[in-house]
Amino acid sequence: MHIKWILAAIVCLCFGTVAGQSKLDSLFPVRALAIAAPTPQNVDSFVVFIQQELVPRKVNTLILRVDFNYQYKSHPELRDNNPLTEKDVRKLTAAAKAGGINIIPQINLLGHQSWAAETYNLLAVYPQFDETPWVKMPAKYVWPNTDSLYCKSYCPLHPDVHKIVFDLVDEICTAFDATAFHAGMDEVFYIGDSKCPRCKGKDKAVLYADEVKRVRDHLAAKGKKLWIWGDRLLDGHSTGLGGWEASFNGTWPAIDLIPKDVVICDWHYERPDKSAVLFAAKGLSVITCSWNRPAVAEQQVKDMANFRIGSSPEMSGRFLGMMETVWSPVTPFLHAYYKDDPAHPVINEKGISNPSTTFRKMFDAILQYQ
Ligand SMILES: [Zn+2]
Repeated sequence: MHIKWILAAIVCLCFGTVAGQSKLDSLFPVRALAIAAPTPQNVDSFVVFIQQELVPRKVNTLILRVDFNYQYKSHPELRDNNPLTEKDVRKLTAAAKAGGINIIPQINLLGHQSWAAETYNLLAVYPQFDETPWVKMPAKYVWPNTDSLYCKSYCPLHPDVHKIVFDLVDEICTAFDATAFHAGMDEVFYIGDSKCPRCKGKDKAVLYADEVKRVRDHLAAKGKKLWIWGDRLLDGHSTGLGGWEASFNGTWPAIDLIPKDVVICDWHYERPDKSAVLFAAKGLSVITCSWNRPAVAEQQVKDMANFRIGSSPEMSGRFLGMMETVWSPVTPFLHAYYKDDPAHPVINEKGISNPSTTFRKMFDAILQYQ
């Protein structure tokens, strides 16, 4: 009797766990955090964060913005100062794998080649790739400015640019043993510039879609998937979403031109706009992304579950899940995270909180579905 009772308890526990896990997996196949890759000095702290915070919340996907923060062997000239080593990356991947977490490394391609007054490494080392070389970086950045400079872009039609960026993509995917790569490709304001000798006069949607397809095809040849942010694929005028989380610069028809296996990370931070439905109806798989408003994130979790449950069988499987995005480096995020008291979260009158509060609230909401 005693052994039978123990066996029965084990069977119940096992089936209970499997059933709970499978319900969560079926409603939210992707449960993600996107954040900058840590500095070498913070790798060990970040490993603890993975083990103690991500794994218990059943986070299963970690997008790490690496960019030039790696000791690239293929292009050492593009390394940041103080970059991650192979050993650092092995620590991160080992912790993630042990916790059932899939790491997807990110390098910003096409846009985000500068920030404020700083030119990032690709265009600093290879200025010939600059889509707008006549736009000089200001000593002190302000927005708006006469050049409409938000971030620099590389020219997608420069004959030499892909050899270099694909070397980085391949090396970082190998280092992280990744099955997917996130190329960013958000907020590309400089594209098809009228002064670019290669791009002038060309359709910006076609230029954008062709670059997505180039990156996708490069990855697909190695059995890997491409993830991108979704803003350039939404019409900022007709949706009312504006020129940042959607496009005012003619790129949005690319939604009908890009390959259907590109995964779209659809970010909306101020309101839970429901453009995930548009992407799914276009045949694209989509993840809804939040940032610093807990109430928005909680509504987005409900919406995602409802889209998944309430859609046609054809569309349902394209609603992949949720992602919390953190736009600071790891160090301030971890400081805020460990100071943040989950029992007394600080949320201001505009509903804005530290992203760590939104992260906790989002995953509290997701785990209610298990
Ligand atoms: Zn160009």
